[in-house]
Amino acid sequence: MSASTAAAALAALVDDAPAWLPPVNYWEIARDGDRWIVSGQLDTNDDTLSEAGAYQLLGPVVEQFGQQLDDDGRLIRARFAHFDVPVDVWFLRPVRRWVVPEQCATCPTKLGDPDVSFVRLGTGDQDAPVICVPCRDRMQAHWVALHRSPLVAARQRAREVLRAKTGEARPMWRQSFTEVDGAEHPDAVSPVCTDDGHDPDDPTVYTCCPDSVVEVDSHVLGAYLVELLNADAHVDAEGGESA
Ligand SMILES: [Zn+2]
Ligand SMILES: [Zn+2]
Repeated sequence: MSASTAAAALAALVDDAPAWLPPVNYWEIARDGDRWIVSGQLDTNDDTLSEAGAYQLLGPVVEQFGQQLDDDGRLIRARFAHFDVPVDVWFLRPVRRWVVPEQCATCPTKLGDPDVSFVRLGTGDQDAPVICVPCRDRMQAHWVALHRSPLVAARQRAREVLRAKTGEARPMWRQSFTEVDGAEHPDAVSPVCTDDGHDPDDPTVYTCCPDSVVEVDSHVLGAYLVELLNADAHVDAEGGESA
């Protein structure tokens, strides 16, 4: 194939552009080994075209030919043939400069050392924390251990019940009295009542109060349970885990 064959194929393509052909900034005919190819730079609309936009424009080209886009991380390329001449339309990704911090975000390991492997948490964010691979592995092991623990499973099931009964998965708890009989010590623990008519200092359980009253025969254990349950609600609120 000669340069003029490639030029003729290009002329035919541009003169009678198919609907799937995206806008191109410029075309060129180039020698690629022992053949000639036609190559066009996707119109980037003055560098405002995003990567997703490039995919949207180039996708239909390869779909036409039952192919996939080439993407080497730098260049996204749609290849096809026109009158047997290889053609491609390409998009050069804007270069992203990743800044590697001096030190792992969670331990003193220096990241500049060539045998230290590290990972960036999060995608596409240049400010995302970077941690060394041993830290990543520790985090993963911790996560797996935590999420398989009976405590986590029980807590999650309890949250579903609480959400259904009180409208809140993590209510705050208090010690309470189930009867107005002048008992000396609270005989129950129950979710804090948020009803407007319920005086927050009144520890009695009324009809306005949420369900899920747990009777206890020792107010000392009741106090302990309230502290445990409220500490658990706090861990949650601080993003320990999500329900
Ligand atoms: Zn580390
Ligand atoms: Zn109440």
